[in-house]
Amino acid sequence: MSTTKLLFTPGPLSTSLTVKEAMLQDMGSRDDAFVQAVKAIRSELLALAHVSKEDGYETVIMQGSGTFGVESVISSVVGKNDQLLILANGAYGERIATMAAMHQLNHIVVRCPENEIVTAAAVEATLQQHPAITHVACIHSETTTGLFNPIGDIGAVCARLGKVFIVDAMSSFGGTEMDMKAMHIDFLVSSSNKCIEGVPGFAFALCKRSELEKAKGQARSLSLDLYAQWAGLEASGQFRFTPPTLSLMAFRQAMQELQQEGGITAREKRYRNNKAVLDAEMAKLGFRQYLDPAIQGHIITSFLYPADPAFHFGQFYEKLNQRGFVIYPGKLGKTDAFRIGNIGQIYPDDVRGLVAAIGEVLAEMGVKVA
Ligand SMILES: *Cc1c(COP(=O)(O)O)cnc(C)c1O
Repeated sequence: MSTTKLLFTPGPLSTSLTVKEAMLQDMGSRDDAFVQAVKAIRSELLALAHVSKEDGYETVIMQGSGTFGVESVISSVVGKNDQLLILANGAYGERIATMAAMHQLNHIVVRCPENEIVTAAAVEATLQQHPAITHVACIHSETTTGLFNPIGDIGAVCARLGKVFIVDAMSSFGGTEMDMKAMHIDFLVSSSNKCIEGVPGFAFALCKRSELEKAKGQARSLSLDLYAQWAGLEASGQFRFTPPTLSLMAFRQAMQELQQEGGITAREKRYRNNKAVLDAEMAKLGFRQYLDPAIQGHIITSFLYPADPAFHFGQFYEKLNQRGFVIYPGKLGKTDAFRIGNIGQIYPDDVRGLVAAIGEVLAEMGVKVA
């Protein structure tokens, strides 16, 4: 077996051995163990968001990566006579704008710079100006930079003005407490391979049932039909098309490990500790961060390239990779930066190991950071 690499990325992430072991048994999609696992996953995901079926919420699992889940919601819940407002301050907001254009939805995109959050006041002003807007879509943890948009405040504006609120909480759900009802979120999307620490294979949407029911018959895609997927799961406990059985078994195990760790509160604490170690150790090396700490989340951090012309990201990445540390390139419009994630099965000592390796690699490359 090749040596284990630690992934300091926004997903897929490092997972525990026991999560990987949960995939060792072939599993038919009608096997009772599988059907029960899916049922437990669907109800426990709601509990993680502090809601339940009794409260009027539902979980829909969608095969594919996280984007499939977002596209399923966007292309299913915005009706012909509806209008979608997309709040974009990074690549993932732009991705929703691309989906809206491809599905020919009535939509408006409000953009703000990548190093600024979307404010509730700006959302309110836009909603006042465009009363035809029915739905609002926003990214929580904008993985492009690592900032957290204030979804609680934006949700309050949406609730007050009667708008359906869709949140891409892909890289934050499970890594920070979120109460769907208190935050007025109608659709919350995340995936198997982010903060719940499963392996890739599916996305999930937590949905307010009364809004989900309105999506009946209005999807623009067969395979991404959110309502039909839900109806299928409800009727028979089965997926309409082949489910990622082993990924779901791994996820069931990952959810149990999240509980054993102490739930989302404990996981958030570990991620915040990782982030504190990363910040302190990278600052010692002289690295500067892209974002104002006031808007920076604890999931992923963007570091500016050192100004020294001896720095080449490709070489830097490869030398770290050879040492077993996988980091992530930047995705910013104008600024050169790379990203380091704090999520997955990584602990403060792993972060110290990574930053020590970064120091060695810079010395080897002859790069002076500050
Ligand atoms: C990871 C991520 C996604 C989904 O990406 P996939 O590559 O499709 O899994 C969507 N939004 C955000 C904010 C993400 O971090």
